[in-house]
Amino acid sequence: MKITKPHAALLSSPGMGHIIPVIELAKRLSTDHAFQVTVFVLETDAASAQSMYLNSTGVDVVNIPSPDISNLVDPEDHVVTKIGIMMREAVPALRSNIAAMIQKPTVLIIDLFGTDALCLAAEFNMLTYVFMTTNARFLGVTIYYPNLDKDVKEEHTVQRKPLEIPGCEPVQFEDTLDAYLVPDEPLYRDFVRHCLAYPKADGILVNTWEEMEPKSLKSLQDPKLLGRLARVPVYPIGPLCRPVETSKTDHPVLDWLSQQPDESVLYISFGSGGSLTAKLLTELAWGLEQSQQRFIWVVRPPVDGLSCGAYLSVNSGGAKDSTPEYLPEGFVTRTSDRGLVVPSWAPQAEVLAHRAVGGFLTHCGWNSTIEGVVNGVPMIAWPLFADQNMNAALLSDELGIAVRADGLEEADSTRSEIEAIVRKVMAGEEGEEMRRKVKKLRDNVEMSLSSDGGGSAHESLCRVTEECQRFLERGTDLARGA
Ligand code: UDP
Repeated sequence: MKITKPHAALLSSPGMGHIIPVIELAKRLSTDHAFQVTVFVLETDAASAQSMYLNSTGVDVVNIPSPDISNLVDPEDHVVTKIGIMMREAVPALRSNIAAMIQKPTVLIIDLFGTDALCLAAEFNMLTYVFMTTNARFLGVTIYYPNLDKDVKEEHTVQRKPLEIPGCEPVQFEDTLDAYLVPDEPLYRDFVRHCLAYPKADGILVNTWEEMEPKSLKSLQDPKLLGRLARVPVYPIGPLCRPVETSKTDHPVLDWLSQQPDESVLYISFGSGGSLTAKLLTELAWGLEQSQQRFIWVVRPPVDGLSCGAYLSVNSGGAKDSTPEYLPEGFVTRTSDRGLVVPSWAPQAEVLAHRAVGGFLTHCGWNSTIEGVVNGVPMIAWPLFADQNMNAALLSDELGIAVRADGLEEADSTRSEIEAIVRKVMAGEEGEEMRRKVKKLRDNVEMSLSSDGGGSAHESLCRVTEECQRFLERGTDLARGA
């Protein structure tokens, strides 16, 4: 029987920030481009946010047992090192799963930490693509940096000069990736190992779009600029983000939001795993309280302090105050008329799409960043690690849709700085101007996704589909590269 429908196998690294865009890509390939899709993820416990999310997507998901890496890493190793080793150790299980499939995949799509699986392309005669779940700026910087002379690197990391990137905005020292500051450590070597493998794939897909990152994209597609290092086609396929499912989502946060005026609430979240120190949590709480603005705060225990159980409060003032012990005493009662403290997790896509949300204090993970933009919400950028500093620079310096709040000191005066930033975005003229700009960006998103207006995301995936079709038509018995 002749097989005419391409089959895409997608492999996701652990973490919601990777899994969500991989699933969304799988959905788009299946719905708009007639692919059969299978998504491979590393197994996690059934009660986790990841499992609950995966059960609701309608996509064919195969759980690969999480490899035991306890003998291969030190507990203090960086999360990037740990993820890289997990992904490498998962390759044999992926191989067995693919070998057992009746219709073998036409194409294997890995994310930025899955490069060890590229070796399966030759074994199973598949095309391969790398999917950057982060952005074009990150891709550009990570493939450029390892090619630099030692002296040039040191000008940036030791003398702290801005790093000039061909065709792109320079990277300021303060925003540089943590991995680049430790060139002799495994973190740097792991990082570079992945980056140097990207051009071995048949193409690179990036979760971004033209209006969001015009300079970086253009450079990556220009063989005289970063395209010389990318070596393979770079396709913008974004924005890919979780769809808003308000009718299916029942959550007290959404009920509370419905009682608030339009664009009046600041939503605060540091992603699926970010936390602040105890002192900065305290300062943020006081800053918020002093600002007198409405807020929803997805709060986690501090990284350096006592942990506290799950907690949700819509305290009307009469009940016993239920402020977590790591926030200032009485905070929940004093802010109960205008604020909501939510433990650990909120339905972020639905919250940001709500008419009552008018600002987003974010750690600038790329998914959160995109979710802010597609909902036209101006941001307060408070990056914590990894690509988040570069994302914050893009939002504030290049796009003018965020104010930065990073680099805040652990001092009592910080609460006043936070108060001023919150007021600026929620009630000031600068906030209005940012709101206008981000709404304009939001309005253009439709265009890049559109299938009849030559939208860049749709065009990119059409080209990938054509390539897969051609590969399929050459015959599955033809060895790759023959
Ligand atoms: N998220 C959510 N509820 C939360 C925190 C996070 O739904 O309380 C989702 C968020 O909408 C985003 C993802 O988890 O899609 C986090 O990805 P991001 O890249 O922003 O940050 P990371 O968690 O990878 O640091």
